[in-house]
Amino acid sequence: MIDTHSHIYLDAFDADRSEIIKNALDCGIQKVLLPNIDSSSIDAMLATEAEFPNICHAMMGLHPTSVNHSYKDELAIVEKHLEKRPFCGIGEIGMDLYWDKTHLNEQKEALAIQLKWAAEMNLPVVIHTREAFKEIFDVFHKVYDPRLKGVFHSFSGTTDDARHILQMPGFYLGINGTVTYKKSTLPDVLRAVGYEKLLLETDAPYLPPVPFRGKRNEPAYMVNTRNRLAEIFNVTPQVIEEATVENAKQLFNLKQLKYQSVTK
Ligand SMILES: [Zn+2]
Repeated sequence: MIDTHSHIYLDAFDADRSEIIKNALDCGIQKVLLPNIDSSSIDAMLATEAEFPNICHAMMGLHPTSVNHSYKDELAIVEKHLEKRPFCGIGEIGMDLYWDKTHLNEQKEALAIQLKWAAEMNLPVVIHTREAFKEIFDVFHKVYDPRLKGVFHSFSGTTDDARHILQMPGFYLGINGTVTYKKSTLPDVLRAVGYEKLLLETDAPYLPPVPFRGKRNEPAYMVNTRNRLAEIFNVTPQVIEEATVENAKQLFNLKQLKYQSVTK
């Protein structure tokens, strides 16, 4: 499997990062993709990628909660890194109006600029959205380019939101531990759109699946999310693995990866 969204470079993992990677490999997770946050997270992310080559792959981008009055300086740093070496995607980018609406216009502008770079560089985008579907769709509508492809990570919207996203060819829904929560409305939404366009992720150290709520999340716990999806769609866990691995390989250009199931 591929954990398409994991922040294991954060200091929450400094004490046991190698063990976390070993746990992931033991569970059949062959790749862990690392979304960036802002200029303060780049060094740690690239160090984690260098420590686990062929397992960890870094992205580059500016997270919406780090967009403020100085976002242009932050974007200049992102751009410099994108020119220097290849990354597997542009992320995470998007809009977050849950924490703070002060920089709504700056968030829109930062998203539009990074979407433009992604289209030009033929890189997938990893979209973070919190209470901002309408605003994000507005930006997409304005700057849409048929070369755009990507994932709405930690998807938690309605059936309409899901359909709106999946109307765009090359777009996927990223599903994590929230789908295992008792009150989640996601199972019904997902049944309405099918499992063909889903990606698995953890968003570690955040959003651990049941039965690990309240603990630090890690890539190995993605097995619980996979199993819940299998239950929701009434298929075997292997069916979910194969579909999501194929999608992740396709989207993030990881074609050299050979899929291996280690499901017991
Ligand atoms: Zn994230």
